[in-house]
Amino acid sequence: MTPLISLKSIRKTFTSGEVPVHALKDVSLDIEAGDFVAIIGQSGSGKSTLMTILGCLDRPTSGQYLLDGEDVSDFSPDELAERRRRMFGFVFQSYNLVPTASAEENVEIPAIYAGLPAEARRERAGALLERLGLGDRLDHLPNQLSGGQQQRVSIARALMNGGQIILADEPTGALDSRSGRDVLATLRQMHAEGHTVIIITHAPELAESADRVIEIRDGQIVADRRLRPLPRANPKGPEAIGAEAASAVVADVFEAVRMSMRALRANLFRTVLTLLGIVIGVSSVVAMLAIGNGAQQSVLSRIAAMGSDLLIVRPNMANFRGGDGGSIVSLVPSDADAILELPNVAFAVPEMSSTLTVRAGNRDTQTTVNGTVPQFPAAKSWEVGAGSFLNTEDMTSYAPVAVIGQTVADTLFPDGGTALGQYILIKNIPFQVIGVMAKKGATAGGQDQDDTVLVPLSTGNLRLFGARNVRSITVQVKDDSAINVTQDQIQALLDDRHKRQDTQITNMAAIRETFTETSNVLKIFLGSIAAISLVVGGIGVMNIMLVSVTERTREIGIRMATGARARDILTQFIVEALVVSALGGLIGIALGLSIGGVAQLFGVPVSFAPGPVILAFGSAFLTGLVFGYLPARNASRLQPAVALASV
Ligand code: ADP
Ligand code: MG
Repeated sequence: MTPLISLKSIRKTFTSGEVPVHALKDVSLDIEAGDFVAIIGQSGSGKSTLMTILGCLDRPTSGQYLLDGEDVSDFSPDELAERRRRMFGFVFQSYNLVPTASAEENVEIPAIYAGLPAEARRERAGALLERLGLGDRLDHLPNQLSGGQQQRVSIARALMNGGQIILADEPTGALDSRSGRDVLATLRQMHAEGHTVIIITHAPELAESADRVIEIRDGQIVADRRLRPLPRANPKGPEAIGAEAASAVVADVFEAVRMSMRALRANLFRTVLTLLGIVIGVSSVVAMLAIGNGAQQSVLSRIAAMGSDLLIVRPNMANFRGGDGGSIVSLVPSDADAILELPNVAFAVPEMSSTLTVRAGNRDTQTTVNGTVPQFPAAKSWEVGAGSFLNTEDMTSYAPVAVIGQTVADTLFPDGGTALGQYILIKNIPFQVIGVMAKKGATAGGQDQDDTVLVPLSTGNLRLFGARNVRSITVQVKDDSAINVTQDQIQALLDDRHKRQDTQITNMAAIRETFTETSNVLKIFLGSIAAISLVVGGIGVMNIMLVSVTERTREIGIRMATGARARDILTQFIVEALVVSALGGLIGIALGLSIGGVAQLFGVPVSFAPGPVILAFGSAFLTGLVFGYLPARNASRLQPAVALASV
C-alpha cells in the first residue's frame, strides 16, 4: 500500500542571503494515512521548512515528493494550490486569521476558493465553529477572541475543505498550558475521526501524545520512534468538500467585491483619502465640461439668433476719429440699394439710429430710434409680437408710424393697456404705433435689444436724424457657402462708390466659426486639466494598493495556504482597486452634477450631457484597472511560504 506522504532525498537550500542556508539536507520520510506524527527539534533545525514542503507551500530544491502517489515536486503553482485546497488544513503558532474578517468568515475562506456556494459555506462554517465550542462567537473579530479561541477558529478553518491532512506548526506555542491542552485534545479528536495529523513542536512533552515522533536536527532526521501502533482501520480520512464544484466567475467577483468592501472599511480614513483623488478628478471632468458646453451653446445660440448668414456693414470708425464732431457720414441709404443689386444678396437692410426722447402722455423714455426697412424682421430673425411691421407703402409715403420694442412698450404703456394705435411723440412729431416687437432679450454684450423704436428709414431720414448717416446695413446672402465672396464684392463696391475704404464688414458666419474653434480648444484644455487630475487620482489608488499589498502580505499568504490561486489573489486586488475607483467615480459624478446645478442656480449657462459623465466614469474605472494592476500582480506573485513568513 502506498503511503499518503513519501519524501525521497528532499533538500531545501535558501540562497536569498549572503551564504546559502541548507535548511533540509537529504530528508527521506514516509507517513501513512491516519497517523498522528510529531516532528520535534530545536529552533532552527528545519521543522517549519519541512512543513512548508509537506504542505505544498514551497517546492524542494531537489528530491522527490509523492503525495498520495503523485509526484508533486515539479507541480505548477496552480496545481499545488489545488492540492493545498483539497488535502491540507494548516494550523499556525500565530493563528494567522484575517484580522478584518469575523470568526465565521475566516472559517469560510478555504471554501470560497473551493467554489462552495455561499449558503452551504456559511452553514458548514457555523457547524464547525459550533462543534469547537465557538457557536456564540461567530461574528467576533479575531482581536475580540482569546488566543485559545483564535486557535480553535483556525482549526475549524483547517477542517473547512475536509482537511484530510492537518499540518500544525507549534499550534500551542503561543497559548497558556490549559488552552494548549484543549487544542491538543481537539487535534487528537480529529485524528480519532480519521484525519492524518502532523504537528511540529520543540516541546518533547507535547510530542508524547503523538503516535509517532520524528526528531530533526540541522536539517536531517536523527530519530524516528513509534509510540503507538497505526490505527488498524486506517480510514482514508474525510472526503474533500467542494473540490469538484467549479467556481463560477460571477460568484468569484461577487465574493471579491465583498472582501474588498470589508478591507476598504477596515481602513476607512485611508479609503476616503484615496476616494478623494478620484472624486476630484471625476467631478471636475463632469462640472468643467457641463459648464464649458453650456457657455458654448449659449453663445452659439445668440449668434444663431442674430443669423449666421449675415454680413453687417458699418462705417469704419477709425477713419472718423476727431472728424466733424464724430458724426458718421460714410454710409448712405443708397449704398443699401447698390448692395441689393449684387448677385448673392437676398436683402440689404439699412438702419439709421439716434438716441432720442420718446414721449406718450405724461411718460417719456430715452431710447434708440432706428430708421429701417420692411425686411428688418427677416434680416434680424426677430418677429413682430403684436400688430404689423413697416411696409413698402410706409416707406414711399414717409408715413409717421412706429413699431416699438417690449421695453419701450412696458415703459410708456405700463397699465396693461395696448400700445397699438396710440401715438408717441418723437422730437414732438407724433408717430402712430402700428406694432410691438416680440421680446428679443439682451445681446452677448448685455445691451437690451428691446429698448428701441423702429420707424421707416425714409421718415426717420427726413424728419428725425438730420444727417444722412446710416449706422449699419445688414445684408443677408442667398447662398451661405458663397458668403466670403459676397463680402469681398460688397467691400469692393463700397470702396468704389466712396472712393476710399471707409467701411468694414462683419461676417457672422466667420465669427461663429472662429468662436466654435476657440471654444473647442478651450474644452480640450479644460478636459486635459480634468484628465490630469484623474491620473493623479489613479496614482493615489496605486499608492494605496501597494501599501495595502505590503500590509496584507500575510493575509495573502493565508489565502494562498487555504488554496487561493495566483489569479484569485490578482482578481481580489484588482477588484479592490476597481471598487475604490468606481465608488469614487459615482461620488464624483454626483458632485460634478451638483456643482453644475449650483452654477446654474447662479445663472451660469450649463449643459448636462451623458457623454462627459460616461467618459469620466469610464476613465475612473480604467484608471483603477491600470493603476491597480501592478500592485495586484505583485500580490499574486508572492510565494505562499514567503508571504506567510512575513510579519
Ligand atoms: P524551525 O522551524 O525548526 O525553527 P526553520 O525551518 O524555520 O526552523 O529554519 C531552518 C533554517 O532555515 C534556519 O536556519 C532558518 O534561518 C533558515 N530559513 C528558513 N526560512 C528561510 C528563508 N526564507 N530564507 C533564508 N533562510 C531561511
Ligand atoms: Mg519554526
